[in-house]
Amino acid sequence: MSHISIAIDGPAAAGKSTIAKRVAKKLEFLYIDTGAMYRAVTLYVLEHGDGVIKDIASHIHITFGINDEVYLNDKDVSAEIRSPEVTNNVSRVSAIGEVRTYLVEMQREISRTSNVVMDGRDIGTTVLPDADVKIFMQASPAVRAQRRLLEETARGNNIDLATLTAEIIRRDEFDSMREISPLVQAEDATLLDTSHLSIDEAEQKIIQLVEDKLEVQ
Ligand code: C5P
Repeated sequence: MSHISIAIDGPAAAGKSTIAKRVAKKLEFLYIDTGAMYRAVTLYVLEHGDGVIKDIASHIHITFGINDEVYLNDKDVSAEIRSPEVTNNVSRVSAIGEVRTYLVEMQREISRTSNVVMDGRDIGTTVLPDADVKIFMQASPAVRAQRRLLEETARGNNIDLATLTAEIIRRDEFDSMREISPLVQAEDATLLDTSHLSIDEAEQKIIQLVEDKLEVQ
């Protein structure tokens, strides 16, 4: 039986994971945060050195818990993968071919066995080019930095808006310029600018798109 897949791509802090999670819950689909997978690999590489990359599959086992916790070799790393050190290194590690080949295959395998809402940078273009619904989520850098500031403050991290803005812009540039699977809107993706939308409004727009395309009730 083939499964339904919804691909949500876009730059850092555009609201992808918050909204994708809600959409998945509403549709009773599996939510897969592919950024969290790249972050988990980055954490492992930072701890063990770049030498592990050439044979990454034999070192790493990534799984998700029922509340979207991320497990790296059976250890819950949900908080660690959001550290500034991981954030500052994730684009570099994500640009490496061996890392992408390994994670893309894992992501495709999940979509073969479940209905999924998957968010990332290359889901609609590379991972699931035949996804049933594709969305490219955008928001202005100022809005994205402000949202990230609220998230970081809620986590107890003291970081200023200028630093966050610079980090977001730097990561977007790196992700868009890389050779393999750069961040780019798929030709058949619907653009959703969330700059002036509430979370509820953005969720509703996606649900509407899904219903229009799939006649899901
Ligand atoms: O989504 P998040 O901001 O947590 O992603 C962290 C990083 O992982 C991105 O900046 C990008 O370098 C990488 N990534 C990727 N491909 C994906 C998802 C994330 O290269 N599908």
